[in-house]
Amino acid sequence: MDKNIDQIKSNLSCSFCGSSEKDVNFLIEGDEAYICDICIDKANEIVVEKLDALSNKDKHDLHTPEQIKLMLDKYVIDQDHAKKVLSVAVYNHYKRLNSNFKDDIDIEKSNILLLGPTGTGKTLLARTLSRILDVPFAIADATALTEAGYVGEDVESILVRLFQSANYDIDKAERGIIYIDEIDKICRKDGNPSITRDVSGEGVQQALLKMLEGTKANIPPKGGRKHPEQDLVTIDTTNILFICGGAFQGINKIIKRRLKGNDIGFDRKKTLDIDEEKLIYKSEPEDLMKFGFIPEFIGRLAITAPLNKLNKDALYKILTEPQNALIKQYKKLFKIEGINLEFTDCAINEIVAQAMARGTGARGLRAIIETSMMEIMYNVPSMKDVDTCSISADVIKGKKQPSITYIKKSA
Ligand code: ADP
Repeated sequence: MDKNIDQIKSNLSCSFCGSSEKDVNFLIEGDEAYICDICIDKANEIVVEKLDALSNKDKHDLHTPEQIKLMLDKYVIDQDHAKKVLSVAVYNHYKRLNSNFKDDIDIEKSNILLLGPTGTGKTLLARTLSRILDVPFAIADATALTEAGYVGEDVESILVRLFQSANYDIDKAERGIIYIDEIDKICRKDGNPSITRDVSGEGVQQALLKMLEGTKANIPPKGGRKHPEQDLVTIDTTNILFICGGAFQGINKIIKRRLKGNDIGFDRKKTLDIDEEKLIYKSEPEDLMKFGFIPEFIGRLAITAPLNKLNKDALYKILTEPQNALIKQYKKLFKIEGINLEFTDCAINEIVAQAMARGTGARGLRAIIETSMMEIMYNVPSMKDVDTCSISADVIKGKKQPSITYIKKSA
């Protein structure tokens, strides 16, 4: 009997590659067919490749502005107006790049200017867009930039970062997004054209302007100074989308003055029926010029999107709702240790209240949680049998330690 089974077994073979059962690790039986482990492995590789190709195809199909906005909604709270403006701008930008439509009309590139207080989501918006569109992304700080030849980072260093983020693929880098933060810090201080050279302001605007317009820049691929022995890479910036952001503190006064009309004369006492916070929505290129941008620079940032200050509700949502919400991140950190982390509603409200008091938008949230939880995050990995760690408002205030409940052991 056993001999018979052995004989049958040795006659079985993989219906795909024909290998006998003796020559493989095992066979899996289907309806009148067998497959060996080696064929399963190969088939799995093919499935992964095909699925990858399918999802890449999806990624490169252009999303509609509505779809882009919906995806932004998952990560960025509030800022509906800015999200809409950005979705349309980005859609048009990539439509222009992807289209083979030939006639005499050239659609010019429109870079984007985000105006809004610190910690309201300007960088987050730009970063999230690049993720949605699956294009390389680099961030630069305008305050660190100087004209070539001066001490500091020269403007082309931004391109080096983008090139690196594109995994040294020139084609990819040339379709990427660059976010330049603190753009308001390179404005002329007095709003008037300077006679002498102004290294920190106008000079940098001039240098950036070339990149915003589109230029062929030679960059050292690994960064650093341009050494004669290092081969340079040429990056064409024509199709790179630049998003610039800044807080533009004080611009409200300029907008108000313009809206009120001339300061001198009968209109002097005219009052404006606009909320201080809504003023930024009324900004015009001439306000930005008065703020200290050279006109050509503003011309290259044709699309402006204001962001509003975040209120308590928005901060609460930022803590709890987005895919990567901070509270979710901390919960995950604890879950990895097998511990439930809970924040009471009062604790979350206390974090919000403290962040509001700091006046740095959502920026303060992480620091507040980090400070209140430092002790427990230090202790918990060496504690045993912890089931739940609960954070109350008093923990956030620094008055108490979190309360801990332990796993109940059956007797
Ligand atoms: P900004 O560039 O406007 O100064 P950021 O985008 O760098 O601000 O925001 C700082 C942090 O605050 C981000 O990492 C993000 O976690 C959070 N944040 C700010 N605004 C929002 C928002 N509108 N929605 C969700 N998170 C936000």
